[in-house]
Amino acid sequence: MSNDQSAMNELHWLIDMVQTIEVGLVVLDRHYNIQLWNGFMENHSGVSPNSIKGQNLFTRFPDLPATWLKQKMESVFMLKNRAFISWEQRPYVFQFKNYRPITGRADYMYQNVTLLPLASLTGQVTHISVIIYDVTDIAINKLQLKAANEQLERLSQTDGLTQLHNRRHWQECLDHEYDIYARYSGMASLVMIDIDNFKHINDSYGHVAGDKVIQHIAHLLSQSLRETDCAGRYGGEEFAVVLPKTSGADAMYFTERLREKIAASVILYESLKISVTVSLGVCEIGSHITSSSSWISCSDKALYEAKQKGRNCSVLHTSTSVNKTTQD
Ligand code: GH3
Ligand code: MG
Ligand code: MG
Repeated sequence: MSNDQSAMNELHWLIDMVQTIEVGLVVLDRHYNIQLWNGFMENHSGVSPNSIKGQNLFTRFPDLPATWLKQKMESVFMLKNRAFISWEQRPYVFQFKNYRPITGRADYMYQNVTLLPLASLTGQVTHISVIIYDVTDIAINKLQLKAANEQLERLSQTDGLTQLHNRRHWQECLDHEYDIYARYSGMASLVMIDIDNFKHINDSYGHVAGDKVIQHIAHLLSQSLRETDCAGRYGGEEFAVVLPKTSGADAMYFTERLREKIAASVILYESLKISVTVSLGVCEIGSHITSSSSWISCSDKALYEAKQKGRNCSVLHTSTSVNKTTQD
């Protein structure tokens, strides 16, 4: 075989491979007119190379992000450097339908795209090549993994019975709020809530009814929160709430409203109507609080006072005294 023949064969093979490779290949001239459009592009766009050759890419595909893409392409022409577009940056450049059965969840093909400068024999960059990789499988796997991790993280932070924050995660909120105070001396209050005579509910109606009561109170508590408040299930039938940017007096307003709401509500369990009350201890952060655990013990003291007082009430702990609201 002569050298010429061998070179011809090689060229022929290369063209064959370019046509059949599972990667999109497009060559554009300086004015974005299409010079090459391989089999992958034909299969996914439904447009044949013959019908598109010489036509302007952006006129033919008006849905392309023209301004953004031209800017990328111009820099390839000017700087003679490659450019990459990742699916994470933009899921796709060409909107091709995704037909893959395994990754059927994606409507469109996720793409990584490389823009490659093509130099003429004189060294000038007269054309660029657009190389399109179908990365749908990788993207879907990564997105599913991310979603699963987010779900796991949520589960690891959530109390199963009440859907409130679990104690560990709530403690992180508390520590964070304490750190803000230690650094900037802001205002914040901590509320501890304990169901009154809960043992009696368990003993009289059973643990399942007890669980329903816990869920009911968690629900009323959630309804009373602002976006920035952080409520958690602190223990069995105890709840704790961090109220950022809230004075003790305002926290007492919050606890009294919640207390009244709980006292006025009825839990329907089988054919029973169960009523419960709660006691609440409030502590506003201040110079007497030297750690997040001392903040908890001050709130606990106030809660203990509320129990001593006869339950179904809120007590505010301050550095100098313990103020009580009288039960009606
Ligand atoms: P007090 O008014 O002094 O708080 O009286 P109390 O009976 O509520 O006393 P305490 O707070 O010490 O009671 C806690 C009881 O709550 C003990 C335990 O049997 C019950 N308990 C703790 N966790 C759960 C739970 O997840 N489900 C149910 N059903 N009961 C729980
Ligand atoms: Mg308790
Ligand atoms: Mg209790």
